[in-house]
Amino acid sequence: MSMADMREPIESGCPDGFQYMHPTMRKNFGQWKFHDDPQPGVLRHVAFSGDEVYTIKAGTQRILDVFTLRTLCDIGDKFADGFIRFTIRSNIEYIVTEEAKVQPLIDALTDAGFIVGGTKNSVTSLSHTQGWLHCDIPGTDASGVVKSMMDELIDEFTAWNMPNRVHITTSCCQINCGGQGDIAINVQHTKPPKIDHNLVSNVCERPSVVARCPVAAIRPAMVNGKPSLEVDEKKCICCGACFPPCPPMQINDAEHSKLAVWIGGNHSNARGKPTFQKLVASGIPNNPPRWPEATAIVKRILKEYKAGAKDWERINEWVERIGWPRFFEVTGLPFTKYHVDNWRGARASLNASTHIRF
Ligand code: SF4
Ligand code: SF4
Repeated sequence: MSMADMREPIESGCPDGFQYMHPTMRKNFGQWKFHDDPQPGVLRHVAFSGDEVYTIKAGTQRILDVFTLRTLCDIGDKFADGFIRFTIRSNIEYIVTEEAKVQPLIDALTDAGFIVGGTKNSVTSLSHTQGWLHCDIPGTDASGVVKSMMDELIDEFTAWNMPNRVHITTSCCQINCGGQGDIAINVQHTKPPKIDHNLVSNVCERPSVVARCPVAAIRPAMVNGKPSLEVDEKKCICCGACFPPCPPMQINDAEHSKLAVWIGGNHSNARGKPTFQKLVASGIPNNPPRWPEATAIVKRILKEYKAGAKDWERINEWVERIGWPRFFEVTGLPFTKYHVDNWRGARASLNASTHIRF
């Protein structure tokens, strides 16, 4: 076959983003002089060439229906330059090159029910996963937590009230997404999985599930003459990792699956190293449809952070300056034995080294 007859390979990876960029952004790529924040929800980038682009940010739901997506695109065609992009926190951003287009675009978004904000020292949209739709381990509906909390934090999204940016994350399981937020609301299973022995031999990938447990708490066992599994409950850390390869190992529980709030996670930035989150509240009821207990704790932390932090301190920097005892004092959150990691097996069996284990 000659080269001319060969078809182009079908690329299934991420497409080249440059083709979707606003032409002014493409032209000035890597040549930006500075950016500033003319008003909440709006960024202005100025290039060395003198070109300017305005970015208008609005919050959207994580999973967009076709009607909403078309509405957003129509607004982009009519009031912006026809270019949009989504951020990792489910915000939509429109790019325009003329200042005169900014306010009509904001008005069109507001009239259609979208809320403009999420820039600079605001609480930006909560980042969340949507486990029920695409993942195999969810223990709760992270999107519901996000919706309930954003309804109550909307004034912090549209204004610049915070000492610095606040990133909040949620997760629908205990072990994967949802880390590294200034505040994270994560699921917390508090009981080992319950095994349905009648189903294990038909459904479970037993070698996978035994290998999956981070503390080697699962063993093959014969139960009622059938091959099954058993869990050493003294070792089990209730992580939920066994549920995906073995659905009969059910760990989700309306009463015993709780929420926990962690704070202070931060990727490295220009001023500091990465920081790990620390547990500040555990055993919070996983209470749909509005999750009032978890929301109240997050609001209390934000209130004290707003009142006590210096300008430009992130939450982890604020707590490091005032100290953890003072943090628990001002927020009124109880410091309990559950805040101390005293599990003796962790040194030998958790992933505390750079070795990769499967
Ligand atoms: S948080 Fe857990 S369950 Fe939810 S999408 Fe991420 S890995 Fe899946
Ligand atoms: S919940 Fe986690 S620690 Fe417990 S048995 Fe399952 S995988 Fe192991």
